[in-house]
Amino acid sequence: NSPLHDLDPEIAAAVDAELHRQQSTLEMIASENFAPVAVMEAQGSVLTNKYAEGYPGRRYYGGCEHVDVAEQIAIDRVKELFGAEAANVQPHSGAQANAAAMFALLKPGDTILGLNLAHGGHLTHGMKINFSGKLYNVVPYHVDIETNRVDMAEVERLAKEHRPQLIVAGWSAYPRQLDFAAFRRIADEVGAYLMVDMAHFAGLVAAGLHPSPVPHAHVVTTTTHKTLGGPRGGVILSTAELAKKINSAVFPGQQGGPLEHVIAAKAVAFKVAASEEFKERQRRTLDGARILAERLTEDDVRSVGVSVLSGGTDVHLVLVDLRDSDLDGQQAEDRLHEIGITVNRNAIPNDPRPPMVTSGLRIGTPALATRGFGDEEFREVADVIAQALKPSYDAAALRGRVTALAERFPLYPGLG
Ligand code: PLP
Repeated sequence: NSPLHDLDPEIAAAVDAELHRQQSTLEMIASENFAPVAVMEAQGSVLTNKYAEGYPGRRYYGGCEHVDVAEQIAIDRVKELFGAEAANVQPHSGAQANAAAMFALLKPGDTILGLNLAHGGHLTHGMKINFSGKLYNVVPYHVDIETNRVDMAEVERLAKEHRPQLIVAGWSAYPRQLDFAAFRRIADEVGAYLMVDMAHFAGLVAAGLHPSPVPHAHVVTTTTHKTLGGPRGGVILSTAELAKKINSAVFPGQQGGPLEHVIAAKAVAFKVAASEEFKERQRRTLDGARILAERLTEDDVRSVGVSVLSGGTDVHLVLVDLRDSDLDGQQAEDRLHEIGITVNRNAIPNDPRPPMVTSGLRIGTPALATRGFGDEEFREVADVIAQALKPSYDAAALRGRVTALAERFPLYPGLG
């Protein structure tokens, strides 16, 4: 028995049950991944005990000589990985990275342009009851209703009309790539900063399989736990010129003591992300999403009212459009859950159903690619999903196919 089982059997049981859930089902939430055991080892280390307010070499606490080493390695690795001039690895999460970046660049009441939440933006890009919506004057931009792609003509028109101090480019639910150069041109025309939130696609950028926002943006924020596959956390990359402002916005502006155990785990994840193996995994992630999009645009699913937003994908996720289906987002999510596939329902542009129900599903491939899935397995899981979204489906048979896939790719075999 482990110390946790001895001390707190109730929590140990929840952890064990979660491990079993991850091992026995197929994880297709687009923002999730499986961190390597080495990352979790660093995250579960004695570094959790250390106070280290400040930055490497300039701390407000004694005894920081070892966490300084780990944090500096994390900074150096992430700068190298993305070709950035400066990096802050202390944000506790993606939302805190965005809060700190905005705190550095804006004053309350300033105007920001961000992608509307229902069109794929994130809460921190200006949602009404988020800090971003409360502190700043938010002007949302949208996707074009015909193409489902960000309407750059609208971005330009709104920028010229509202003269924002900041334009945010980035998304939580969008299956295509953004034109960072066009965003920067518009930002320059109106004298705004450009911030790109690459939380979702950072792993693809690290692997060189997605255009990098770094050469175009003043500031780039990301999480470390999505396609990047590291511990839960955030990072801010910036130009050298903005580094001081960003650092003081993170600490003492927004946060107190950094999570040095998580920062050490981020460093491990950045090392992994620079490897050939990681690149190959990101390639399988993209191939898997394309295979899924292709399967979900075939005639047999079209005929039951299921389609794919924008007709395909360039990234690690597919947005399923259920507006013409008898199934709503909640029912489709539940049905996939019933057969062992975890996804999340998602509002789609001009969704006729309420936000708690929705008419969309967001389905991502990063976690399964980490598990080892290649084309053949993605074809199998894509067909299972296609069958499950039909009015008559055989839950037991589909659950059997899911279990067979899960068993072929054991997850965390050394744990539990
Ligand atoms: N930015 C984007 C684009 C996201 O999709 C998310 C999370 O879903 C975040 C920021 C926030 O990250 P966190 O959940 O770590 O606060």
